[in-house]
Amino acid sequence: MTGFDISLFIFLLVTFIYVFTFNVITTQHKVYLLFHFFMMFWPICQVGVHTTDNPNLQIIFINTSFVCLSMLGFGWLLFTKFLVNAAYRPSRKFLAYMVLPSLIMSVFVVWNPAELFMRPVDGSYTERIYGPIFWVLAALLISYYVISVRMLLGTYRLRKAQQEDRVSIVNALIGIIILVSLSLLDMVVNVVLDPWLPVIPGLTSLGIVTSNLYFVFALQRNRTLDLVKIAHQDVVDTLSVGVIVLDEHDQVIEMNRIMSPFFRIRVGEKLNMAKLLAGYSTDAASEESFLHMYQHQPSKRIQTEIVIEHDKLQTKFFSLHVAPVIVGGRRIGRVITFQDITELKSLILKSQEHNSSLQERNRALIYMQDELFQANRKLEQMAITDSLTGCFNRRYLMQQLEHEVLTNLRYKIPFALILFDIDLFKQVNDTYGHIVGDEVIRRTAEAVRSSLRRTDILARYGGEEFTLYMPHTTREHAEMLAQRVREAVEGNFIQLGRGRSPISVTVSMGMIAVEEPFHQQYDDIKEYLKELFLKADSALYRAKDDGRNRVVNL
Ligand code: GH3
Ligand code: MG
Ligand code: MG
Repeated sequence: MTGFDISLFIFLLVTFIYVFTFNVITTQHKVYLLFHFFMMFWPICQVGVHTTDNPNLQIIFINTSFVCLSMLGFGWLLFTKFLVNAAYRPSRKFLAYMVLPSLIMSVFVVWNPAELFMRPVDGSYTERIYGPIFWVLAALLISYYVISVRMLLGTYRLRKAQQEDRVSIVNALIGIIILVSLSLLDMVVNVVLDPWLPVIPGLTSLGIVTSNLYFVFALQRNRTLDLVKIAHQDVVDTLSVGVIVLDEHDQVIEMNRIMSPFFRIRVGEKLNMAKLLAGYSTDAASEESFLHMYQHQPSKRIQTEIVIEHDKLQTKFFSLHVAPVIVGGRRIGRVITFQDITELKSLILKSQEHNSSLQERNRALIYMQDELFQANRKLEQMAITDSLTGCFNRRYLMQQLEHEVLTNLRYKIPFALILFDIDLFKQVNDTYGHIVGDEVIRRTAEAVRSSLRRTDILARYGGEEFTLYMPHTTREHAEMLAQRVREAVEGNFIQLGRGRSPISVTVSMGMIAVEEPFHQQYDDIKEYLKELFLKADSALYRAKDDGRNRVVNL
């Protein structure tokens, strides 16, 4: 009979190696292998008990087999968990809760206090009588069994409702039922009914082996699905975008690892968006409106930006999108994505900085341009203005005249040119000094300007001599205007201050008027102007000769 148990052990070993060799090792497989490992020890230790008469060795074999049997409960549960959900990631706390009853039972089995677990018959453990601890262990295994079966049945119903593959679940269920049935049969026949029935060895071993076959089928069936799942997980994990998939109750059903350094989220937990965003949002107002939308309008696509200080050195910006998953008009979940926009953000920031510095430079340029313009205008003004009197200077006058006179002649427009000189100015200089002399020149120019029309051009010709150009003016009219100017100067009293009596000067004027008939030759405008000035000059001389303070018209 021991040969039967050995062959079962070998069979389990072979399937162990088979599973190990022909499968892509996933967490699910690792869990299965742990489970299988516990299974293997039962038959081999059952054999061990019969290979020796030494009670101590027998105890070791029995303890090992029962410890493994006890751990089998935990193995089941874990294997079932992974079978129903390949993406299952148990927390350490939960693992500890699951394994604790099995561990405690193992301790009691090995300890066997007051032989409450088992005692030998006739000093040998090949025949033994079990005590209450054995029954507690049996109850524990049944509890693990019940939980596993409930879980499998639940998944079965769910998959049936969603028309998904249920073969692996059915296989696992059959496996567990066979295992438990044969174990119970073993217990009933070989423990409860022991006194009346002959021992039937290897029943539990047979259960273990048969159920194992079903478990391997279950695993095999899940393998193709696993491949898809592994590939899917790989794809999701290698995405550069963080992804969290929520079901309709906002429970996390899938996520990749990108965001795990920043958020403590686990598959199976309910996602708390407010908690997730806390401390990461860029501004309170947008966080509030985003959360409001998230909570009250779950079927809307929403977006916000979050900022995460990573490693205290690097700040990362993420664009957070929440999109509903809608099937047949019903929202069945949501997909949350996190896209790293740090680079984009820094580019935008840089270009903004660049822009503002460009704008700054532009403003400076515009300011400089304006200043240059003003300076230029001042220069232009200075270039055509006489600094003492503020009248135009001779250069400007000559320039203007070249153009004006040419036009006048061409279109036969009458005009007049007057040359005038302050009378006896040397005396002013001699009597009051040059400073007062300058002042007199300035004030005389002012007096002349105030009696002119806007279109007349007054220029300082040099020293105390001035030129007056009167456009669109006939001889008669020019004569009248000249007299007006002369009178204005004559009546202009210049205050010298400090009790000194005011002084006034007079001017002598030589005038030349050009009007119909325009029979002058004007091949060379410069020559023509020179001629005009000569004539005006001789008129001025005449005015001086005739007794000053008068207008002579040639
Ligand atoms: P006349 O009536 O014949 O013109 O007698 P006048 O004394 O004015 O003689 P003239 O025109 O020849 O002399 C002008 C004097 O004016 C000569 C010069 O010393 C003086 N003068 C010329 N330019 C300036 C100036 O810018 N400022 C001052 N204070 N004096 C000037
Ligand atoms: Mg003079
Ligand atoms: Mg003079």
